[in-house]
Formats: sequence, C-alpha cells, structure tokens
Amino acid sequence: MPRYPVSTRRRSPGDIGAVGLLSPRGWLLATLLALGAIAFPPPGIPDGPRAGENQTPHYDLLIKNGTIYDGSGGAPFMGEVAVNGDTIAAVGPLPDAKGRVELDTNGLAVAPGFINMLSWATESLIEDGLSQSDIRQGVTLEVMGEGHSMGPLNEAMKKEMLEGQGSIKYAIPWNTLGEYLEHLERRGISTNVASFVGATTVRIHVLGYQRRAPNREELQRMQALVRQAMEEGAMGVGSALIYVPGAYATTEELIALAKVAAEYGGMYISHIRNEGGRILEALDEFMRVARSASVRAEIYHLKVTGPANWHLLDKVIDKIEAARREGLRITANMYTYPASASSLDVLLPQWVHAGGNRAFLARLRDPAVQRRLGREVSIIQPEKIRPMNLKSPTYRPMAGRSLADMASALGKSPVETLIDILLKEEGGVKMVRFSISEENIRRQISLPWVSFGSDGGSFSTQGVFLNFETHPRAFGNFARLLGKYVREEKVIPLEEAIRRLTSLPAENLRLDRRGYLRQGAFADIVIFDPEKIQDHATFEEPRQYATGVIHVFVNGVHVLKDGEHTGAKPGRVVRGPGWKGKTGCVRSWK
Ligand SMILES: [Zn+2]
Repeated sequence: MPRYPVSTRRRSPGDIGAVGLLSPRGWLLATLLALGAIAFPPPGIPDGPRAGENQTPHYDLLIKNGTIYDGSGGAPFMGEVAVNGDTIAAVGPLPDAKGRVELDTNGLAVAPGFINMLSWATESLIEDGLSQSDIRQGVTLEVMGEGHSMGPLNEAMKKEMLEGQGSIKYAIPWNTLGEYLEHLERRGISTNVASFVGATTVRIHVLGYQRRAPNREELQRMQALVRQAMEEGAMGVGSALIYVPGAYATTEELIALAKVAAEYGGMYISHIRNEGGRILEALDEFMRVARSASVRAEIYHLKVTGPANWHLLDKVIDKIEAARREGLRITANMYTYPASASSLDVLLPQWVHAGGNRAFLARLRDPAVQRRLGREVSIIQPEKIRPMNLKSPTYRPMAGRSLADMASALGKSPVETLIDILLKEEGGVKMVRFSISEENIRRQISLPWVSFGSDGGSFSTQGVFLNFETHPRAFGNFARLLGKYVREEKVIPLEEAIRRLTSLPAENLRLDRRGYLRQGAFADIVIFDPEKIQDHATFEEPRQYATGVIHVFVNGVHVLKDGEHTGAKPGRVVRGPGWKGKTGCVRSWK
C-alpha cells in the first residue's frame, strides 16, 4: 500500500461515510482519513480571487490535487494551493477555483520551499544565479554567514578577497552586507537569499588578523558594524570559532556582538569552539553567550567528531534540552553526512596561523617550526582524512587518496605530509574527514529542534564548478534527508521533516511570511514525489543532482518545471527583523 495517497478525485469530509461507494483509491483515502493518517482542513475560503467569468474564483496559479504539507508538522491533507502574484491566496479544497495556469499534481507532496540554514552559496550565486544543486532539492532560501559574511568590507578586505579568489572570479562593487545581498538580487538569482553578519568579518574589519582582544573603542566599532548589518536586514550574528582569526574572539567579545543582534530581534548562530572531546565546554560557552546576551541561539552543523567522542552526544542533547527547559531559545541545524568538510590547516594549532595566510606560510617554511609541529601535533585517523582541490604537481595525481596514503607513498609522517601539502599548495586546501557516527546522525534527525543546512555552495554540473572538488552535501543534503532518512529508514515522519525544513527555521529566524503554505504567505512552494526523492551525489562523484523534486516556485514564479530549471530568477533578499528599509547608508566609523 503506498504510503502517500495519490487520489486525483476530490472529496469533502462528508464522503467518509460513503465508503461502500468509493473506488479502491477512494477507499484507501477514506481509510487513511479514518486512521488519522491524513486529514482534511476546513474547506478553504478563497480569499481575494481575481475577478473571473461566471463568478468562479480565479487565480493566477492553481496547484491542484496536492497532498498538502503546510509546514506546521500537522497531518497532510488533499487540496489545492492558489496563488496570486507572489502570494498564496488560499490553501485547502477549492473545488470551484480556476487558475490562469493550472497544475495538476496528481497527489504529489506540496510543501513550503525548504530553508538551507547553512549555505555557502556566497560566491556560487554570483557565478551562476540559477542555484541548480539546491533548487533541484526544493531549497528556496539560502541563509549565509557562518562566521564569514560577504560584508561589511573595507578596502584591505576587498583586496584580500580579490587576490584569494579561486575558480570563481568576480568584482566586488559592494561594501556592506546589505549591498552584497542586493547585488545578488540585481544580477538575478533563482532562490531567495539571507545572511547573518559574520563575527569574523567584523573582527577583520576592525582588527585585521591580530591575535588580541579589541580595546573598548574597537569593540564599539565592531558593534556598530553589527548594528548597521542588522538594520540592513541581517538575521543576526554568526561566528565560527575554530578558524583563525574568528577563533581569537573571547566569549566577552561574542556576547558584546550578540547583544547588538538581540536588540534588533536577531539571532546568534555559531560553529562552536570544539566538536570533539571538548564539545561540552564549547557548549557551555555558547550557552553563556545566549544567556548573557538574551539572544535566541543556534548551533551550526551539530555533530560530535571522532569515534572516541561519539558517546558525548547524549550529554550534548541533555545540556541543550536542559537549557531549553530553562527558557533559553536554543536550536541547532545539521547536515546529513558522516563526513565533515573544512580547511586542512585546522589540523594545526592556532599559533601557526597568526597574521593571515602569508604569515602562516612563512612560518610553516621555517624548519624549527616544522620540528615543533612534528612534536606537538598528532593527527587522529589520517586514513579518514581526504585532502581536496589539490593542484600542485606532487599532489594532484594523488587526488582522492587519504592523508595516510599520501604519507606512506612519500615516506613521510602524516604531519610532515600535511605541512608539505600546505606549502606546495600555498594554503587554501580543503579536506573531507570521515569522523561522524551514522547512528548519531539518525539520533540528531529525530530531535524536534534541529533544522538542516548543507554547509555547501549551490552549484551546477558545468563551467567553473568543474574546477574544484566538493562535498556531496552541496548536491544532496536535503534530498538525502527525505529519501534515505525519512522514506527508507523512517527516522521521522515526512510532515515532521518538512516542518524542520520550513516553519522551524522560518520561526527561528523570525522571517516574515515564509515557512508555511498558508494564505498571505509568499508563494515559495516545492512539489515533490516522496516515493522517489533521492540524492545521488557521493564522495567519489559529488556533482550529481538529486531527483524527485518536480516543481519549485519562488515568490510565485515557476523555477523548476517537470524537474528542469526554467531559467527564471525571481529570488529576493529576505531581511531579518531589524531591517530599516534601506541599505548602503554607510556611516563613517572613523
Ligand atoms: Zn562550520
């Protein structure tokens, strides 16, 4: 028996009593209704239909015969979604409604567009606004800003960004975060975009790469930058505390910045300081920021890394749930893979990184430093670490092999190999590291306060996107949740998974009219086949689109049609609660 009814016949709740008269499909539907597996909402009251002939409610778009998951987490129901312009006009059984465009979904799942809580589509959307790998999974909002955001920038930062550009080359005509987001919208994007302002970015703006605390006046300038970003519509402040120079921030500095976000109703979100053996201390710091700044707070990509630490997840969950009971508004997001991806150089201690990439490489070249690192650093499970995007003659031929493999091929230790890679590649090397427990992934998915983020860009399968390796999460994170974990492993029901992809993050972010299929909401809509949705990206072949998403609408515009991109770019900047209605009002901080 299919888990999802595919009835194309319309029935009202009154039909339930007439089971004997129903077709086999109708009988199935009635049975599901009786079991409470699906429910009918009250009949939809068409609101604001366009004037039509014969007084028939008439809409721009009518999505018919859908199994509607409205984002609330409640049972799905059969019915229609009517859209006028960029707004949902009615949801429910609308038997008499007509649409200028009508789309019969034949019982497919109809849901609010998905929210990617951790997007790195910062550069990929400049290169290609179509946002292919995420749109094809139903993502209609990319939320950026994990520590680093694309603004505010000063001249030195712009110069550094231009010099550090990889395969994706672009000009930087913006200064502030709001200007960057508007730059994307102006160039044309298929998805909506939002961003946190990066605590690291604000720090670099004022302190560069110095390893010290800001003085009082510097801290005030950092706060002023956060204030400006909040007024431009930032979602809050995002930190990433394992990467230099973001890692130089003290808890006090983070509290000071988070307080400004809180003044505007924004959120604090963080890649916490440790995800391994010291994760509980890192959580304590995170909670201290939330408590001291009275701010809603979210943990980026919740996970416990390293087999020796996997058991700590119980304590992590207990700690978060205790804080939630106490009244702190703590949430988390995650990706759905057992491997992380980050910079290879995070395996080295912070003192080597001081002063930026050039200083870092100069230090690494020093034989005394190399000897010291050989003594101080031990790399756990080098066989589980795969360096990515290698370009030098020595390492390019070894692409895809583990650090342990490379080390034995070269007759060096893993640490010596690591240093050699960083020097030959001149920094900037990424790695995939298999360090997360599958069982913990399932456990985390089952937690009601966890939403989802890809921690990746949104790419296509051509052009410059072929020039670098990527983690499969950029192509499969959301489809993998709905295929592997929801359909196959039944970790959570589909309606709950959809709530976590839609209204949960939308409510956490305090978004205006996003995250639900309901009258008055923006028409960000995904139509997919729950029986077929599937990720195909693997660590060996990451550049493979997910399948099973059939249609996507962004602000009422058809972006994915019968599984293919229409080329439409209706994406907009989505602003946070502090938005003052304009951007680029750059005040002088000096
Ligand atoms: Zn991170």
